[in-house]
Amino acid sequence: MAEKKITRVGGGEKAPQKTTFVPTAEAKAQAGKLRMYGILLWVLAVVAEIAAMIILFKKDPEVALSTVPRVALIVILLIDLVLLIAGSMFWKKANRFDPASNQDVLKFFFQNQLGVVVAVIAFLPVVILAFIKKEYLVGAIAALFMVGGGLASADFKPPSKEEYAKQSNYVNELMGADHVYWTKSGTKYHLYQDCQYLKSDRTTEIFEGGTVADAYANNSKIKPDMSSLCSACEKRAAKEKGWTDEQLQEMKDKAANAVENAAQPPQTEQKAEGEN
Ligand SMILES: [Zn+2]
Repeated sequence: MAEKKITRVGGGEKAPQKTTFVPTAEAKAQAGKLRMYGILLWVLAVVAEIAAMIILFKKDPEVALSTVPRVALIVILLIDLVLLIAGSMFWKKANRFDPASNQDVLKFFFQNQLGVVVAVIAFLPVVILAFIKKEYLVGAIAALFMVGGGLASADFKPPSKEEYAKQSNYVNELMGADHVYWTKSGTKYHLYQDCQYLKSDRTTEIFEGGTVADAYANNSKIKPDMSSLCSACEKRAAKEKGWTDEQLQEMKDKAANAVENAAQPPQTEQKAEGEN
């Protein structure tokens, strides 16, 4: 079989467990490019918003807008929405190439949910102005777009360096290398190229091989958590290793602990004891 070409299997000595995930230079460059596209689209969304606000600024609050400028306003807001969501898509994809560390809670939140912040920037001013100018329909539509655009821009399952490292460690324990397989539309990654679940759509799907991080970067349908590892592949690997369920769990914990322990400050005495 093709995947048997593992060269450095050594004796009992294992490769040290990863404590964090470091993206390759290539992934980092790709993330940079995607972020640039995302920011560019967001800037254009704000430009659309400014155009809408110029129309509203000129409006007399006591005189209703005629149909043409009102429709123009709604179309501009729709363009604003499309640009916002497109920008957020690029931004979220970039984070899968180069995820944030969840150790810094604030940075982790802003890096992953920046699209929500942009949704507020791209719509809230126009919502307020529309209501000041008594253009209630436009105001309501803008408010709706802000909420919808915000939800579409949020990352409900954000990737983290820690999660990438844990799974890379675990796959390494199971297979001796961080090499997995996935399909374009599948929601799992696999350890064996001939997995039954991959076989079932062999004719229509394109297979790719790479690290766990590559799987996340190239297929946004795979959620970045441990449950995305195909359970059939996991069981098969455990069986080949002769591991029981407990031993398997132990390995999983070990892979996770290597990351979590590294995240904590190195064995310094906590001064919690002295406090009352
Ligand atoms: Zn599988």
